Amino acid sequence: MEDVPNFINEMVRQHHQLFENGLPMIASENVLSPAARKFMVCDFMDRYAEGLPGERYYQGNKYVDEVEIKCNELAKELFKVPYADVRPISGTNANQAVLFGMIKPTRTITVPDVSAGAHISSAEFGSVGFRGLRDYSYPWDLENMNIDVDESIKLIRNKRPELALFGMSVFLFPTPIKELMDALMEVEAIVWYDGAHVLGLIGGGQFQDPFREGVDIMTGSTHKTLPGPQRGIILCEPKSKGMKPEKMMRKLNFGVFPGVLSNHHLHTMAALAITLAEHLKFGEAYAKQVIKNAKALGQALHERGFKVLCEHLNFTESHTIAMDVKPLGGAAQLVIDLETAYIITNKNLLPWDHVDDALNPSGIRLGSQELTRLGMKESEMDEVAEFFKRICIDKEDPKKVGADVKDFKKNFNTVQYCFGAGTPAYKMFEVI
Ligand SMILES: *Cc1c(COP(=O)(O)O)cnc(C)c1O
Repeated sequence: MEDVPNFINEMVRQHHQLFENGLPMIASENVLSPAARKFMVCDFMDRYAEGLPGERYYQGNKYVDEVEIKCNELAKELFKVPYADVRPISGTNANQAVLFGMIKPTRTITVPDVSAGAHISSAEFGSVGFRGLRDYSYPWDLENMNIDVDESIKLIRNKRPELALFGMSVFLFPTPIKELMDALMEVEAIVWYDGAHVLGLIGGGQFQDPFREGVDIMTGSTHKTLPGPQRGIILCEPKSKGMKPEKMMRKLNFGVFPGVLSNHHLHTMAALAITLAEHLKFGEAYAKQVIKNAKALGQALHERGFKVLCEHLNFTESHTIAMDVKPLGGAAQLVIDLETAYIITNKNLLPWDHVDDALNPSGIRLGSQELTRLGMKESEMDEVAEFFKRICIDKEDPKKVGADVKDFKKNFNTVQYCFGAGTPAYKMFEVI
């Protein structure tokens, strides 16, 4: 029989090496701090904790309860809200909990359009559809890569949604919540903001603050711009006239358990508490640099001849930029060449692409958050853009560029903006 432990060990070792050599630029990923990582392997991972602290179904949760209470408190403090639930085990799981708890099948929801860069969980063929809801998408302003305010106000007045969902996976600019708020209040919609991508920017005070703009509920992933363990979160500050505050919080609670999970993953919750504490301390500086780096990267790529979206708006207000690489033959081959040169990215449909273009879409989506976390600043974004040019425009041999990428990356393999900053990022554990 094949030696499985050796095989797995070798694969993980090579994976670590890929990321140590490379530039991680997927907009939905990040790297854990050493302190958070430490708790990813502890006996919490072997246990069950169903229900709420103090009201569990199994014994043995005395210390788990303390950690869950602390984690919730830190989340409430960071996002300045009266209600937090850190039990969801992913962003999609958090969204499902809201859909199960808050709205019944056949009712009406308004959603951002998947073709414009929204997440599949808000789609007809994703969680919203599986809940059996009637969904209507906000009209999209292609030029500004944002919701079309006037047309969306008409849609809201016309469809009168019980639940109005916002938030993107290609999230370049803040959503015009304030501008839509009058119409949303008029129809007494419950306003729900999916902040999966931008949670760390919001927590760092550098993106829109959805709760101060009128949102009732925010969900998110805790591992994108918030550099925590892979997990989800639900935050709430009820305002809508559509439902009493206590009822909203009760429904969210039941949506999570028993709605969409029984146990949750206790070791990653312990790690999340560390991330939230770190973000309270370092989040502002980190988020500022993430956004500066994204803008700098957009500018540097633009100057080298790439078609970066929304030049007239300085490319982005978040961690993300999007490029149209159709003139360079489409994204399919480019992302492979980039990977050969140790640059990890993803191809992405742009709003004007046809679904048939899914295998070779026009777009490449890039995020600056993980490079920032590894200590890069604006001047490094310029060097990164030069690697992109050599591969995608000059068509230099990706292997040759890769050797230079590896060399450049040597100085950026420790985690910053955290307790114990400066610890190696991809060598936390000696893989046996
Ligand atoms: C990534 C993402 C999610 C889902 O997150 P997972 O943690 O991967 O389940 C939900 N909504 C949006 C907008 C996202 O970008």
